[in-house]
This record gives sequence, structure tokens and C-alpha cells, in this order.
Amino acid sequence: MKSTQISTKHDWSYNEIAALFELPFNDLIFQAQSIHREVFDQNKVQLSTLLSIKTGKCPEDCAYCSQSNRYDTGLTYEELMEVEEVITAAKEAKAAGSERYCMGAAWRSPKGRDMVKVTAMVKGVKALGMETCMTLGMLNKDQASELADAGLDYYNHNLDTSPEYYKQIITTRKYQDRLDTLQHVRDAGMKVCSGGIVGMGETREDRIGFLQQLANLPVHPDSVPINQLVKIEGTPLDLTLEEQIDSFEFIRMIAIARILMPYSYVRLSAGRETMNDEMQALAFFAGANSLFYGDRLLTTDNPEESKDRQLFKRLGINNEEHIIDDLGENAHDEPASAAQVASQSESLFYNAVLVDERFTRPAARATG
Ligand code: SF4
Repeated sequence: MKSTQISTKHDWSYNEIAALFELPFNDLIFQAQSIHREVFDQNKVQLSTLLSIKTGKCPEDCAYCSQSNRYDTGLTYEELMEVEEVITAAKEAKAAGSERYCMGAAWRSPKGRDMVKVTAMVKGVKALGMETCMTLGMLNKDQASELADAGLDYYNHNLDTSPEYYKQIITTRKYQDRLDTLQHVRDAGMKVCSGGIVGMGETREDRIGFLQQLANLPVHPDSVPINQLVKIEGTPLDLTLEEQIDSFEFIRMIAIARILMPYSYVRLSAGRETMNDEMQALAFFAGANSLFYGDRLLTTDNPEESKDRQLFKRLGINNEEHIIDDLGENAHDEPASAAQVASQSESLFYNAVLVDERFTRPAARATG
């Protein structure tokens, strides 16, 4: 991240954001790209990989999610991994070049016995000299403190959509519950990753409301994943939704997230496999600078690593910490500049460019 004069604000009005949506497309993208290159290296993206430490049988009813035990999605349940199993995978990932490790579990919230295990995982991974991040569902104040005390660096918890549309998507927890979890994470001193999903049948007004919520948090999330809904057979949204979100509307979301939260990593997440190269390039131009990387992203397919690398190569884009080598057969360390070192300390997930897919069990939660 560069040293810049660009200021942030946390009192965005609905009308201000609506006005951004109304801008001619070229004007909006130009504005977003101008901010993006002021703050970040415009030709670098941060790469992330997830490990699912517990998959399926979630009691929540998120209408997009294959991990809910309310829907018949054919997902195979996998119980919480053993601590040693996770640490072994982290060691291997580290040996392959990773510096950060993100672990996700499909829970409403972790229980006491789960906390014992997940804090041991955090400590074990930290002891390897790696940074850690987790997504485990709702946290109370004590759980957030426990995780922070164990050394957890980052916590992912998404707002998903606008407060108004939220009840169409989830009924088993309230919007305020999500805001409370984010508050506990901030209070405990951990960094926040929070975003949502578009294309769930929401209106533009909902998209404005969703971005307004994120942009007006007391501290902007370090990372903002913008997912495009991937319809999963057996989930309610697969049965009810007919139309996909317009591609340009999705790019507008990326651009406006960049403008509202200039210092956040805006992440292209679920749904990327349905985007062609041109759309992904446009998303980078609009300010996206973080990706999930690997051939599976939770329940959904993710573009193959080699395809990603080919795209990066064609666009002249590099990982924040590695140069993408010839069509992805190898990646090698770039000499670290002061700016890179600074950006590494602020990026959310570990560099996954070299992580083998063996370390990323297919999981099923789209957003945490
Ligand atoms: S999104 Fe998370 S909380 Fe919701 S059903 Fe899926 S795993 Fe459970």
C-alpha cells in the first residue's frame, strides 16, 4: 500500500452512493481506477486460499449455502479436523511458500469444545511463523478475545446484503448479530474481513444499502469480498432465482466498493468461474485487488490455477509477493521492496501462489 493523501469517511449517505451508481460507466471506472492506483500498486493482486476445517451440517438457513443442514445439496459432511492435521497442512503450505493460513468452519458459532481446538490450531499455526485467519460464524465478546489471545490475526464475517433484504436470505440470525460479531472482532484487536453476495435477487437499492453498511463501519474492513451468487442445486436461491446479475452492475459494485473504502482489499470471490477473462480484467481495472486462488472455492468451482496464471501473465499482473512465471509452472520470489513489506503486513490472507490443492479441501461455505 502506498503513502497517500486520500482520506476515508464513514458517513456515506444513501444518496451519495446512489449517485455513484448513476455515473456513466466510464466515469465511474475512471474514478475507481484513479483512487486504486493512488493507494495500491495497480498491477498487483493478493492471492488467498482457504482450508475448510469443518464442512456441512450447519444449522443456519442461508438461502445460498450448500452447507446448511436444511437443504439437500448432496454435500459430504466432514467433521472438525484434528489440530495436528491442520498444523501438518499448514507446515506443508508454508514449505510451499505460504505465509498466511485461513481456516473456515460451518457453524452458527463455535462451542466451548470447538474453541479449545480452534485456539490450539491458531497457536500451532502461529508457532510456524505464519499469520492466521478464521471464519467460524458468530462470535461473542469472550470468544473474540480468546481467539485474539491465541494469536488470530484476521476474522472473516460477512454482512451478506442490505439490512432490508437480509430477511429474505437468512432467518436464523439477525443483521445486528453480524454487526455485533464484527464489533467484538474489532474490540479484540483483530482485523476484519467482511463483504457479501450480489445477484441474490436484491434490488439496486439493496446493493446501495449493503455498501453503505460496510463503508460506514467504524473502521473499514481490511478486506471486502464481493461474491457473485453461484446457484447451488438444492438451495432455495437455486429454485427461485431465474436471472443473473448484469455484468456491468457487478463491476459497478467493485468500483464503488473501491471508491467508498479506498484502503481495503476488494476481493473477487465466489462466482469468478462464471466470469470470462475480459470481465475479470475489467474487475481488476475497477479496483479489485484480491482473489481466491485454487481450483475449488468452498462449494463452488474456482478457475484453475494455471488458467489464473495465464490471465495474470496476459494482463501483466503479479501476486503482491511473487512474480507469476511462465504460464504458471513456477513462481519465484521478487526482491521485497519497502512498499511490498508494508503491503504484506496489511494483506489479509497468506500468499497461496504455490499452495498445492491438497491443502485446500473442498469446502462449502461461500462467504462465512
Ligand atoms: S453461510 Fe455459513 S452460517 Fe450460513 S448456512 Fe452456510 S455455513 Fe452456515
